[in-house]
Amino acid sequence: MKKNDFIELEIEDVTDDGSGIGHYDGMAIFVKDSAVGDRVKARIVKVKKHYAFGRVEEIISESHNRVESACPVSRQCGGCTLQHIGYEAELELKKNRVINCLKRIGGIDNPEEYLEEVVGLGSSPERYRNKMQFPVGKDKDGMTVLGFYAGHSHSIIPVEDCMIGHEINRYIIAAIKKWCDENKISVYDEETGKGFLRHVLTRVGFQTGELMVCVIINNKKMKFSEELVSCINEALSKAETKDAIILKSVVANINTEKTNKILGEETVPVWGQEYITDYIGDVQFRISAQSFYQVNPVQTYRLYSRALEYANLTGNETVWDMYCGIGTISLFLAKNAKKVIGVEIVPQAIQDAKQNADLNAIKNAKFYVGKAEEVATELLSGKGTDDTYEEVPDVIVVDPPRKGCDEKLLNTVIKVKPNRMVYVSCDPATLARDLKILMANGFNLEKFSVFDQFSRSMHVECAVLMSRADR
Ligand code: SAH
Repeated sequence: MKKNDFIELEIEDVTDDGSGIGHYDGMAIFVKDSAVGDRVKARIVKVKKHYAFGRVEEIISESHNRVESACPVSRQCGGCTLQHIGYEAELELKKNRVINCLKRIGGIDNPEEYLEEVVGLGSSPERYRNKMQFPVGKDKDGMTVLGFYAGHSHSIIPVEDCMIGHEINRYIIAAIKKWCDENKISVYDEETGKGFLRHVLTRVGFQTGELMVCVIINNKKMKFSEELVSCINEALSKAETKDAIILKSVVANINTEKTNKILGEETVPVWGQEYITDYIGDVQFRISAQSFYQVNPVQTYRLYSRALEYANLTGNETVWDMYCGIGTISLFLAKNAKKVIGVEIVPQAIQDAKQNADLNAIKNAKFYVGKAEEVATELLSGKGTDDTYEEVPDVIVVDPPRKGCDEKLLNTVIKVKPNRMVYVSCDPATLARDLKILMANGFNLEKFSVFDQFSRSMHVECAVLMSRADR
């Protein structure tokens, strides 16, 4: 087999990043934009020793899971990988991914029996993201374009809208293009490091309707500010959206470094305030351009509500929230707990967590900066990090990054013997690895739920309840 060969094959399975898998001549062939059940003619684009990559040239017979993509650029764009698959089938893929990991890696015989629910977005997997980041470029006629990077590349695929973002983005994209073209604003060139506008970031509070527009510029000084605000206002005045949107904040983030990082360190006000507010449940959050905030607020509410339910708090418990980020889960739990202790490695996130606690007048949440695995040991030895004695937790919640929990933290959890442990996970493989360790050390799997936080991608989240086998 060599590059540019055409082969015919049946798509049998899907990879963790959403690519179809089939076989040909004893080799695994990965075919992007195919669906399980498709029979396709594929063009080979890359050949390795035991596998190869192909692109769909023609669909010979269609999988019954296929749908017309809602997005005109989904094949070129490096974002969504599942736009061509029906939503029910997408949820099934995600559920199976979790079940397979629990079986294969976790050594759990019949994980299906513990599955409580697969929580999808509802009838439509669209318009769920509250934050968008568009790189800016020029087309061949010199007109400004905003879009997304193509897969594994930095060439911009121009868009006028994005199906997974809030519908207001369509109007903001148009406003920014107008602002650039009318004022001859240059765009950033990654090769030369020259040009003014790099990216545009938007955030919408789904509960409040508050909008932030942030332009990321390759200059210490913002320019054409008034023109920017008037272009945005003009676009908003014409906007037809389901819910009312109120412009609250226009800011410029300064990034003069030659880097792939989107945001620089400094953000300056252009118009209005420097933050928007939003709610998850009844907890209020203040969100600035640089703040971390969950991108799918509707599903986050459902996921964290389930975590709260699994924690089964009566008001007398001390709870640890490990890997707490900006304290979303901690603040959510605090109203039902005696005390919540949040631990997080990023100092800025802990500052936000403390501010959010104040904003909501929550007094029984305490936050520590540090590695969860290290702070946990200190807390247990009674030292605290500020010389106060912290009680042994009754319930432990963890929400680690994709690499899962550090083994040292798991060992501490095993030693502490909490009544319950709630594991919120964004990676089923590391979740399964960690559950295996916990189950070999006195914990029972009670139940779990699967949540679709990132529709149209293969990412999947879970909430798991573990209890002590001896209680
Ligand atoms: N529940 C949080 C998000 C958790 S995401 C929220 O809603 O804000 C995982 C978090 O773990 C990230 O904030 C990351 O910065 C943090 N993290 C990564 N490694 C860590 C470690 N070793 N100890 C503590 N926190 C860590």
